[in-house]
Amino acid sequence: MNLELSEEQAAVRRLARDFVDREIIPNAAAWDRAESVDRGIVRQLGRLGFLGLTIPEEYGGSGGDHLAYALVTEELGRGDSAVRGILSVSLGLVAKSVAAWGSEEQKREWLPRLCSGAALGCFGLTEPGTGSDAAALTTRAVRDGDGYVIDGGKTFITNGTWADVVLLFARTGEDPGHRGISAFLVPAGTPGLTRREIHGKLGLRGQATAELVLDGVRVPASAMIGPAGKGFAVAMSALAKGRMSVAAGCVGLAQACLDAAVGYAGEREQFGTPIAGHQLVQELISDIAVDVDAARLLTWRVADHIDRGLPFATESSVAKLYASEAAVRCANNALQVFGGYGYIDEYPVGKLLRDARVMTLYEGTSQIQKLLIGRALTGVGAF
Ligand code: FAD
Repeated sequence: MNLELSEEQAAVRRLARDFVDREIIPNAAAWDRAESVDRGIVRQLGRLGFLGLTIPEEYGGSGGDHLAYALVTEELGRGDSAVRGILSVSLGLVAKSVAAWGSEEQKREWLPRLCSGAALGCFGLTEPGTGSDAAALTTRAVRDGDGYVIDGGKTFITNGTWADVVLLFARTGEDPGHRGISAFLVPAGTPGLTRREIHGKLGLRGQATAELVLDGVRVPASAMIGPAGKGFAVAMSALAKGRMSVAAGCVGLAQACLDAAVGYAGEREQFGTPIAGHQLVQELISDIAVDVDAARLLTWRVADHIDRGLPFATESSVAKLYASEAAVRCANNALQVFGGYGYIDEYPVGKLLRDARVMTLYEGTSQIQKLLIGRALTGVGAF
């Protein structure tokens, strides 16, 4: 694995870094308080080509490799995890699934809009009764003439109320577990689909997280993406790559913790000297720095494996597990460096800690990552 960035990768990182410093960091605290990022940010992400990374240019994408995608995701995570998540879901989970599994018609219909930011996607897997045990989902799509009628409900859906299309997972067969699940692309305006925003989140407040209710939602048979009964494979392949983007976002968040802690420690004086001079404060800072480096290298390894066509699912779980736990540790350590001021939302570290906390929960909790890694290593599947 070559740790030297190519000119193209370095350029895309510079572009993302400048954009985040100029357009995101100055607004992140206000968006958090308002419980909504400025929706114009989606179009900006599209104009810069970020929403089309890794998607072929013939479908409106901007090409690029997975390391470039990880670099952009890291920078967005450094600026605001709410913005990072909007892109990780719309591009990482939805557009990439359309590119990988969609028919020519589905690619032509959705990819140009998703890549430009004219449309946003959401990923409808989790239900009120099924989170970690996603294969037990109960939303049902019943064949009716030349289409399907879908009934059920989804919860915790990122971009839920903003999305134009839902990548929806529903049971089409009588087979239990993952075998009976198919995936559909459901336009958000389809009659019978209602959405309600979930308020009161600990973090990621700028993001629209929603409950979806499906009551007699009729879609044509052509809305199915991937083969019938292979919906769980669509979901798992999306999440395997998606975990890399969560990991990259966590690296960025941890980097923001490091930058904030170093900056504050150099300015704040106690006992007649900047607190940076106290060795126990240096310990907090060096612990953050080690976590940032380790998480970044694990994340880059996943990108490298994807780009070279090597197996990457376990590496992605390792990176997601480490980086998400590291993000929580780093934010906690940064808050410690800030002392009481860290507890006040005038300073950035409280938000970083609130935003970090969800990373060990979504796209597979830390416990589920450990089970996936353990199963891959032992060959014994115990869930
Ligand atoms: P549960 O599965 O009920 O787990 C509860 C606890 O039990 C956890 O600690 C878990 O690790 C543990 N546990 C469960 N099973 C086992 C086991 N076999 N062994 C050991 N421990 C176990 N979902 C989507 O589909 N799309 C989205 O866009 C999306 N966005 C989200 C955004 C936010 C802000 C949040 C909070 C969630 C989002 N989710 C989304 C849902 C997320 O993926 C689930 O919350 C997650 O998978 C965990 O499911 P759960 O919350 O039902 O917890």
